[in-house]
Formats: sequence, C-alpha cells, structure tokens
Amino acid sequence: MVDSAPLLTALDRAGYRLTDARRAVVQLIVDQPRHFSAAELFAAARAQRTGIGRATVFRTLEVLSELGQVERLDLPSGKHAYIACEPSHHHHVICSRCGRTAEVADAGLRRLVRDVVRQTGFRVDDHRLELFGLCSACVASTSVPIDRPI
Ligand SMILES: [Zn+2]
Ligand SMILES: [Zn+2]
Ligand SMILES: [Zn+2]
Repeated sequence: MVDSAPLLTALDRAGYRLTDARRAVVQLIVDQPRHFSAAELFAAARAQRTGIGRATVFRTLEVLSELGQVERLDLPSGKHAYIACEPSHHHHVICSRCGRTAEVADAGLRRLVRDVVRQTGFRVDDHRLELFGLCSACVASTSVPIDRPI
C-alpha cells in the first residue's frame, strides 16, 4: 500500500495547488490494488461518484508520472498502465491476467550491467526491467505449472 503523502508533496512542490479534486485523484491512485490505465482510473472516480472531471484525472496522472511519483509500465500488449510505488529503484513482476504487481530489487542485475559495460564499452546510466507472467493466485486457478521456465 502506497502512502498518498509523497504524491501530494510532489504536486505541491511542482506548483500544483492541492485542490479537493487533485487530492481525490491522488487517493484514487494509491487505492488501486493493481496497475491501471487513465481510463480505468477515471472509471473508478465515476464509480465513487466523486464528480471529478476526466481532464483532471488524466492531467493529474500525467503530472504525477512526469514527477516520477507514478510509474508507467509498458505491457506486452502494447498498452501501458500506471502504478504508484516506492520511489527507490526497483523492478516489477506483473500478472498478465489480473494486473497484480510485485516489486523486486535489483538482485543479480548489477552483475549483468557490469558485464554489459565490459562487453560494449558503454557507460550505462539507467535500465528498466519488467517481468510478465501469472501471479500465484492466477497460477492456482489454471493448470499452468508455476515453475515452468519460459
Ligand atoms: Zn514501481
Ligand atoms: Zn494474477
Ligand atoms: Zn534495476
């Protein structure tokens, strides 16, 4: 569960007035249990009868994404989704069926980056890694074994 305070602070620092509507959008974002699209966030706002306009939802999400408070995930389908998560560097493992995500640390990746630097002579400044599959709940509801490597 992500705290709304850092998102509100980031908006405030960037000069966005913390209106009731923006606060409500932030609350909606941190309440999402799974990754979501802008359209899905707006649908959630409507379902809660918040009365927040589509433009406010979309724009607040976009600003928070630009501010690095909400991460944009590129899904294998070519679509993208958003998720609020810890600001520290991490990666996501994402369920392709239900959209549940988990955060994972760099683990063995540092060594891989070192090898890439050695092999290519590049200075590597950043990287992204997203892993896709089925979460344990979705695995349990299918006959696909969880330990089968891709
Ligand atoms: Zn994240
Ligand atoms: Zn799942
Ligand atoms: Zn990393």
